[in-house]
Amino acid sequence: MIKIVEKSKCSGCYACAMVCPKSCITMTTDEEGFWYPEVDIKSCINCGGCVRVCPIQRPNFSKRDKHLTAYAVKHKEDYIRLNSSSGGVFSALASYVLEKGGVVFGAGFDKNFNIIHKCVESVENLAILRGSKYVQSKIGEAYKEAENFLKYGRLVYFSGTPCQIEGLLAYLKRPYENLITQDLICHGVPSPQVWRDYIKYRSAVANGAKPRKIAFRAKNEGWKRYSVSFLFENDTEYRATLDKDPMMQVFLKNLCLRPSCYNCHFKTKYRRSDITLADFWGIKNILPEMDDDKGTSLVIIHSKKGEEVFKQIEQKVIAFEVDVDKAIFYNSAMIQSAKRDSKREKFLSEEKSSFSKVAEKYTKLNYCKRIKGKLKRLIKRILGRI
Ligand SMILES: Cc1cc2nc3c(=O)[nH]c(=O)nc-3n(C[C@H](O)[C@H](O)[C@H](O)COP(=O)(O)OP(=O)(O)OC[C@H]3O[C@@H](n4cnc5c(N)ncnc54)[C@H](O)[C@@H]3O)c2cc1C
Ligand code: SF4
Ligand code: SF4
Ligand code: SF4
Repeated sequence: MIKIVEKSKCSGCYACAMVCPKSCITMTTDEEGFWYPEVDIKSCINCGGCVRVCPIQRPNFSKRDKHLTAYAVKHKEDYIRLNSSSGGVFSALASYVLEKGGVVFGAGFDKNFNIIHKCVESVENLAILRGSKYVQSKIGEAYKEAENFLKYGRLVYFSGTPCQIEGLLAYLKRPYENLITQDLICHGVPSPQVWRDYIKYRSAVANGAKPRKIAFRAKNEGWKRYSVSFLFENDTEYRATLDKDPMMQVFLKNLCLRPSCYNCHFKTKYRRSDITLADFWGIKNILPEMDDDKGTSLVIIHSKKGEEVFKQIEQKVIAFEVDVDKAIFYNSAMIQSAKRDSKREKFLSEEKSSFSKVAEKYTKLNYCKRIKGKLKRLIKRILGRI
């Protein structure tokens, strides 16, 4: 019987399901809401294609350039920067590709605000992909669609988490001159089920109204103190900074990441992608003049192709070369996995019952309340003695 990979190691990249010649691998969700391959053994012909393509079982270390350059970058247009997670570099690169007649793949929302990989063919539609969504994105048929465009000779820009880019490259099997790959410094991806439960909770608070627009990185209070924001169909709004929003708290406290994210196989300095994008968290210490708290990106270039594409956006951005290691020093998620919270499984099994209460119980949100409660009780006691 074919065994694709140990469940805890599988990143859910979809490569095995997409490569199977008999279509006998289905990606199904487990009780935590993450996708895993399930093989229909009756149709399997034991060709081994799924094992060969798996970036965990057969990691490909070839063609990893050992030459890196890094830049601190800001898009010149404030509107784009304010609607992007960091400095808006994704939009600059993607616009360049679209203006050349290419296509761009990245993560967007579906009509129910699930996160899925989508293809955009015009600059007008780029907003669909702009901005980080801190939930695992479903790859679905995206690799196959990208392959069709590549074979047809179109320029393709594919953006995703490092495991998705490795999945794509493994699926494609051969290099394409007309493919540009861009990954991210990736903290990890929360469960799509937790995200759905969170949306349900937010809608209930908004009197049952559905969301019309969601942003994970609204910059009303700045880039570093970003907010999660919801606009509902009944015109009500929710906005909370990362320290107060329960979804961001359970994400950043590593309570709901995919199991593979705690021992990520893709946390390497040298990568097969052409470009890595990230928030330049160390900018205040490295290049303070580039920090206006509207967002600065860290751009790490891994290949000649990446360097060439980056040159093409010179006019659209302000960029300064920086030392790679210094930049990574302030962004350890490039090379280190998130630490598994010992309460992760308990949180995931309980959150379905009442998202907000359970999130409060397991995060600092609750801690703040507890401190406030303690202070109140202390003041009462002191006043009682007077
Ligand atoms: C899950 C996740 C974790 C991250 N963790 C870190 C981190 O620990 N440290 C850090 O410095 N930066 C991290 N980033 C990257 C950071 O949030 C920005 O995406 C990056 O700085 C690029 O920003 P930008 O302003 O250039 O463009 P933006 O417009 O903000 O970039 C959006 C790009 O990210 C892609 N994207 C959005 N959501 C997803 C998703 N769920 N899965 C795959 N691709 C997605 C979009 O397709 C688009 O290409 C993470 C991003 C994601 C999605
Ligand atoms: S061994 Fe071949 S046929 Fe069987 S599941 Fe894997 S890819 Fe599909
Ligand atoms: S190819 Fe991707 S989805 Fe399939 S088993 Fe490997 S990591 Fe999991
Ligand atoms: S942390 Fe690793 S396994 Fe998890 S989504 Fe990011 S790249 Fe994939």
